[in-house]
Amino acid sequence: ATPTAVTVGVGRAAEFGILIKNGDTLENAGQLDVAAFDKTGTITEGKPEVDDIIAYATSEEDLIKLVASVEQNSTHPIAKAIVNKAKELNIELDQTTSFENVTGKGLKAEINSKEILAGNLALMESENVEVSSKLADKYYELEKLSKTIIFLAEDKTVKGILSLSDKIKENSRRTIEELHKMGVQTYMLTGDNESTALNVAREVGIDNVKASVLPENKLEIVKDAQSNHTKKVLFVGDGINDAPALTQADIGVAMGNGTDIAMESGDVVVMEGDLENVVAAIQFSKKVMRRIK
Ligand code: ADP
Ligand code: MG
Repeated sequence: ATPTAVTVGVGRAAEFGILIKNGDTLENAGQLDVAAFDKTGTITEGKPEVDDIIAYATSEEDLIKLVASVEQNSTHPIAKAIVNKAKELNIELDQTTSFENVTGKGLKAEINSKEILAGNLALMESENVEVSSKLADKYYELEKLSKTIIFLAEDKTVKGILSLSDKIKENSRRTIEELHKMGVQTYMLTGDNESTALNVAREVGIDNVKASVLPENKLEIVKDAQSNHTKKVLFVGDGINDAPALTQADIGVAMGNGTDIAMESGDVVVMEGDLENVVAAIQFSKKVMRRIK
């Protein structure tokens, strides 16, 4: 593309709320073959709310207190939802004396000299916490309802679970439909459980689902798609832990108000607001590229 056309294209894209940081992105957008989406905050609102609170050998209030005390250290949407719930119930939080993020699984902290784990089933497994069959049954029941389930373990004993649900964005379905009309294949890559992921994908019409995916594996999946297809791969994520996949993709789109990671990466496009802007930007890029050729 000529430098002038690219400059004009980049300027026009900004009108769709899309900040294109280099000219190649515009060119790639016109040859798109695969579009992959993160789930939380991208396909869904990313503002989950706490539904069920199931306490074992403790009160509901103590369970929330423990989980929220750990989660107050995290910026994950799940963490915000749980801390909000504690606030709503006027529960005072404890301080953690150590804290660790376990990527794609949850959190590990110390409170009153006890080890506290808050996260998914994979976290319980990797930390050797036993999950009783009764608890597992409850887990699978909630999972079928598309809920995200968080276990809380104190010194390797499960004290309870919380379930959260997150609404699907109003225009996710339409965006996917438009992409399919353009002949683009769609994927959802998520760290969430398979059952929830499949339900969300079905609701919005996404073709392919990869669940329980760690952030570094999102990068591998993008790479695979790039080698299996001669054309280009777009990845849309929320930019929080999707940076590797965002930079690997031919077009990386970070949703929201441009997180630090997204801003640092020259290849990443930052998009404000609407998911449908992805479609508008691709259509627009095609138009620009056609005019240039
Ligand atoms: P995604 O954005 O695709 O849902 P993440 O890597 O952000 O993927 O999270 C994957 C999973 O890890 C979540 O669904 C949840 O089960 C668990 N997890 C992540 N962060 C937290 C947290 N702060 N508290 C509890 N669980 C978490
Ligand atoms: Mg995410």
